[in-house]
Amino acid sequence: MVSIMAGNYDFTQLNKEKIAELLAQDDFSAVYEAADKVRRSNVGNTVNLRAIIEFSNVCRRQCTYCGLNRGNKELQRFRMGHEEIVNTAKLAIQAGYKTIVLQSGEDDYFTKERMGRLIEDIKNIEAPFETAVTLSIGERSYKEYKYFREKGADRYLLKHETADAKLYAGLHPCGTFEERIECLKILKELGYETGGGFMTGLPGQSLYTVAEDILLLKKIGCDMAGIGPFISNPKTPLKGEKSGEPELAKRAVAITRLLLPKANLPITTSLSVLSEAETPGGQHENPFNFGANVIMKKVTPDKYKHAYEIYPAKLSRTDIVKDRKELERSILRYGRIPL
Ligand code: SAH
Repeated sequence: MVSIMAGNYDFTQLNKEKIAELLAQDDFSAVYEAADKVRRSNVGNTVNLRAIIEFSNVCRRQCTYCGLNRGNKELQRFRMGHEEIVNTAKLAIQAGYKTIVLQSGEDDYFTKERMGRLIEDIKNIEAPFETAVTLSIGERSYKEYKYFREKGADRYLLKHETADAKLYAGLHPCGTFEERIECLKILKELGYETGGGFMTGLPGQSLYTVAEDILLLKKIGCDMAGIGPFISNPKTPLKGEKSGEPELAKRAVAITRLLLPKANLPITTSLSVLSEAETPGGQHENPFNFGANVIMKKVTPDKYKHAYEIYPAKLSRTDIVKDRKELERSILRYGRIPL
């Protein structure tokens, strides 16, 4: 057993077997405590708030777990217009968000030039701070990634989804694991703050896979990582499969904090969706005590929000200013500083 309570244990040296062993422990509290300590001394007590605009649910891919996959004929597809996206970003920036995340399916309508104009216009919105633009629009060519960077994009989120190449192949009839990793390498090389990540509880995944997922984040040198439980979506080929347990995702976040002490680790939406479902209206334990330091808040206009259904979720009405204030208040209540 790894003695993780020992003060001088070098967490960054954890290997696959040790990580899997930790994940399987009955009592994980010592790891949570260690992760919280590492979080505090490396990224402090601030919680970074990001505004996410889900601007198109049109997708050319067939990822079997995702509600946006092009085989889902029940989904009403939408694309926000240029001005609409920029105006939404403006409202979010005025409400205090310093990062705008642009997320979509892999939608060819948003060409290199269209994305470039969006990035430029959002970067140019007047604000008392420099706005960071994060893209989460899937796999693109080297040329496009380079162009977006030149237009001012700062960060890129592209989860590797699973480090098990065979499992990856089964989940993605439309792309290979190698292509995914190549994209992440390019993003790093181009100087993006690069975000990888994966789902826990995927059918066919073992704790060794999760351990490999965490080690892969380190190998790529990810600056951010989105880790969340798989949620079975009845409108996808994975309907009827069991959803992942939030606990495993939280454990994976905690160990990732130990291995990547300075990373930005969000409480992913899928994680909060499941955790809230588990304690309806009940007491929430401090959601920041396991190593995470980022929260993403949807600012997608209501008329589109419901159609951006990656997985089923209960969504409340969006009020960008009010939502932000509420989020700030609850973060302060948990003893953290919203940024
Ligand atoms: N098309 C872009 C961004 C949208 S998908 C891309 O592929 O990068 C954003 C993330 O949602 C994915 O990376 C995946 O990890 C997550 N996701 C998709 N379907 C999910 C599901 N059923 N349960 C949990 N997470 C899911």
